[in-house]
Amino acid sequence: MDKKARVHIIGAGISGLTAALVLEKHGFAPVIYEASGSAGGRVKTEIINGYHLDIGFQVLLEAYPKVQQYLDIQALEPIELWPGAMIFNNGRREIIGDPLRNIALLWPTIKAGSATFSDKLKVARLNLELQATSLKDIFNGEDIPTRDYLLQKGFSDSMMTNFFLPFFSGIFLEEHLQTSCRMFKFVYKMFGKGSALIPKDGIGVITDQLVSKLGRTKIKYNRPVYQVKDGAISFEDGSQQLSDHIIIATADTNLTGRTGERSVQWQCSDTIYFECLKDEIRKPLIGLVADSEALINSIIYLPQGSAVSRIPYILSVTVVKSHQLSSVDLRKQVEADLSRFCDINDVKFLKHYAIRKGLPVVEDLKNRLPLSAYRLDKNTYLAGDYLLNGSLNAAMASGEGAALALIEDHNMAS
Ligand SMILES: Cc1cc2nc3c(=O)[nH]c(=O)nc-3n(C[C@H](O)[C@H](O)[C@H](O)COP(=O)(O)OP(=O)(O)OC[C@H]3O[C@@H](n4cnc5c(N)ncnc54)[C@H](O)[C@@H]3O)c2cc1C
Repeated sequence: MDKKARVHIIGAGISGLTAALVLEKHGFAPVIYEASGSAGGRVKTEIINGYHLDIGFQVLLEAYPKVQQYLDIQALEPIELWPGAMIFNNGRREIIGDPLRNIALLWPTIKAGSATFSDKLKVARLNLELQATSLKDIFNGEDIPTRDYLLQKGFSDSMMTNFFLPFFSGIFLEEHLQTSCRMFKFVYKMFGKGSALIPKDGIGVITDQLVSKLGRTKIKYNRPVYQVKDGAISFEDGSQQLSDHIIIATADTNLTGRTGERSVQWQCSDTIYFECLKDEIRKPLIGLVADSEALINSIIYLPQGSAVSRIPYILSVTVVKSHQLSSVDLRKQVEADLSRFCDINDVKFLKHYAIRKGLPVVEDLKNRLPLSAYRLDKNTYLAGDYLLNGSLNAAMASGEGAALALIEDHNMAS
């Protein structure tokens, strides 16, 4: 059914693009206004010297329900990460992981001193427990900091310091694991249920795929919206557009100008890329830098299917700890840390991305909301990961929810 209503979406991030997909399926032809010159929001890849560099390292968890619903995962040409990590601590390197999902991890995990025998049993038990718990129960369940939850589970100090702290700091983009255990359980369950993937040409191919699925949606780039009021969209250049339905798919501005509306706090991080001649991990594994003196949190060697240079490896380094260093000093510190804690030398700096808005800090983490929660007023709706939790799954779920609320209202009115 061809719907003539004027439908506008503000923001071409993953939530805005998902909303457009759902609206198209129901016969609408939305227009997206995007402030920047390209789609994707926080999911973008830049090509620098022929290398595909994500603007902030991230992975795609294939078990995310909304990812399975909205993406053709195989078409992203993903590289599957092994379910584990290489831990760098005190000059030692060891691998721990889930041998039930990758048998190559069995012997290194048995040998690993970072986790006690009791830790290994507890990890297996936690896996079983979370696989048997529904997402609904996880998000309605206890809401204590992840760190307290893991300590209550009785994990050893060594397991906390060497594995949980650096691994989940890299995921939550905060160093003390203060993020709610609901998010921990959700992510842990997703890791246990499917693989963590890195698209061969970077995370931005997710955006490209969503955009390519849109047939009737128009995306207008470099159109920063200034205000949304009474069904009118005002742009920063002073022009206006009247609309029947508006989805605000960004957490960035207080576009409706109402006092008391939420102002989102953000977890930030730095991603620094280097070219290098050797891959010190030699397996598709994340490297965790567990030493408390290290500024760097995690590292990974990235596949570079379309690299043009003769340098074969790209090393991505994530910094989560807060710091006041300039870009140049940060880079020097990271190089020193790579050498001191990982024995990785001879790296050539490529690019630094300071991510000031990485993940939203969400007080009451949710997996889904009733459609009514996406309605701001009779013709304005909200979408964005900040409404649920900081993940691609949440961005897609919120875009879908806002679009469905809009469709419901439109159908009621007509
Ligand atoms: C460093 C980093 C690591 C991450 N790691 C992971 C991970 O491993 N796994 C995972 O699932 N998720 C991860 N995420 C989170 C995931 O990327 C986000 O949840 C998701 O991209 C959010 O999409 P969104 O549409 O809600 O918001 P955004 O991506 O923020 O999109 C909002 C869009 O609105 C536009 N906009 C803003 N203001 C205006 C305006 N006034 N007018 C017009 N347009 C406007 C912006 O330019 C942007 O394009 C990570 C994010 C970062 C940054």
